Amino acid sequence: MTSRTRILLATLLGLLLTATLAPGASASRVGIGDPYYPTDGNGGYDVRSYRIAVDYGGRDHTIAGSATVSARATKRLPRFDLDLDGLTVTDVTVDGRRATWRRAGAHELVITPARPVGSGAAFQVVVRYHGRLHNVDDGGAPSGFIAGGGAPGAGYLEGEPHGCATWYPCNDHPTDKARYALAITVPRPLELVSVGVQGPTTAGVRDGVPVRTYRWRMSEPISTYLVGWYADRLTVQRSRLADGTPVVSAYGPGHAAVMRREARLPEILRVLSQRWGPYPAPAAGGMFVDDDIPYELETYGRPVYSTRTSLLTIVHENGHMWWGDHIALHRWKDICFNECLASYSEWLWREHQGADLDRIYRQGVRRGGEELFGGKLYDMGAGDEFDSPVYVKGAYFVHALRNKIGDARFFAAMRTIQRRDGGGVLSMNGWRDQLERLTGVDLTSFWRDWVLTTGRPSRANLFPGGLGR
Ligand SMILES: [Zn+2]
Repeated sequence: MTSRTRILLATLLGLLLTATLAPGASASRVGIGDPYYPTDGNGGYDVRSYRIAVDYGGRDHTIAGSATVSARATKRLPRFDLDLDGLTVTDVTVDGRRATWRRAGAHELVITPARPVGSGAAFQVVVRYHGRLHNVDDGGAPSGFIAGGGAPGAGYLEGEPHGCATWYPCNDHPTDKARYALAITVPRPLELVSVGVQGPTTAGVRDGVPVRTYRWRMSEPISTYLVGWYADRLTVQRSRLADGTPVVSAYGPGHAAVMRREARLPEILRVLSQRWGPYPAPAAGGMFVDDDIPYELETYGRPVYSTRTSLLTIVHENGHMWWGDHIALHRWKDICFNECLASYSEWLWREHQGADLDRIYRQGVRRGGEELFGGKLYDMGAGDEFDSPVYVKGAYFVHALRNKIGDARFFAAMRTIQRRDGGGVLSMNGWRDQLERLTGVDLTSFWRDWVLTTGRPSRANLFPGGLGR
């Protein structure tokens, strides 16, 4: 994520949610175990895939259709929860049998199957639903649907830290990765772009209105918040990277300048690949929204941007393809794993452009007092994950880390981590442990100074390796 206008508010909702989790609170209101968003996600199962077939109404911002959730139970399930915020459920089946359901808490859909799902069993849930799209904002930034774009009825879907509950029933936490097959029908003249590889588009008529159904398939398991879409009158550019990866970049009206920036995508991905390893996503490109969007978001292989976005933001969001997307954070307090490394990807681009990063670093830490070193890179509190420290101090931290370990060993270790942990998740401390194992460098005091505490790091940790000369 990058944003120009983060709202710095304490998260009142976070306090309220904590209050609802007093001993004796309903199990249905307990999520996957992330203390920042305690009701997000659910336990007891692991989603393998979502198949979502919905009609988007356009001007009325409605959605109607079905979601098929294929999952495996990790324990016996007499009942289980999906996350769904708003919207009206009309029918639920589990393995083809009619199930009963009720709504609970802010966004729980509590499902009781006709017979319990056995531990270890694969099962399939089909939920039919409809309603008006909306977004939720608990003190950080909106997650969900936002009306905006060039054509009447245009709108887009993006959400971090909440990814999916406002538009389909899901297990809404980054650690439950799944594959996706989307079929989204929109009224003409709207078109629709999403993540993954595009399938066939078909035309039809709904209630006398000519429509088109757009199909997008994500063949690799990804976090729920890495799926987004944009419906508008679109200009679509298609090409391929040198390795054959399909590139689809879709632009709302008012896109001339950003098209020139996006044209550098192959070069950007080449520069980042040289450092971080092979480009991990099965597709590339961007969704450029003709709107002053609240934040750009690294939806997998095809980030959501504003048509006014900068070249460095395109670099940043594509840095997330390795860090945040292919390997996801474990808990939201680990957000530096995503943002520090995406922000440092911008530094790698500047280095490619000829910048002297060591000089930039030395100047920055000489000038930076409390402003640079006072911010937290770890466990900053719910709603504060996307404040400036992970974007600014985070890049200085990674540059110091690179120098602490040494260029060749640092980047080789990061590429090994991509290979080993790709498709999975990693915490900040898990990342440190991996680096220590792979490089033999003790990072205890370095991590303490830069990540686990605030304030100016010791001279040895501020000017490690080549920076000390
Ligand atoms: Zn970011």
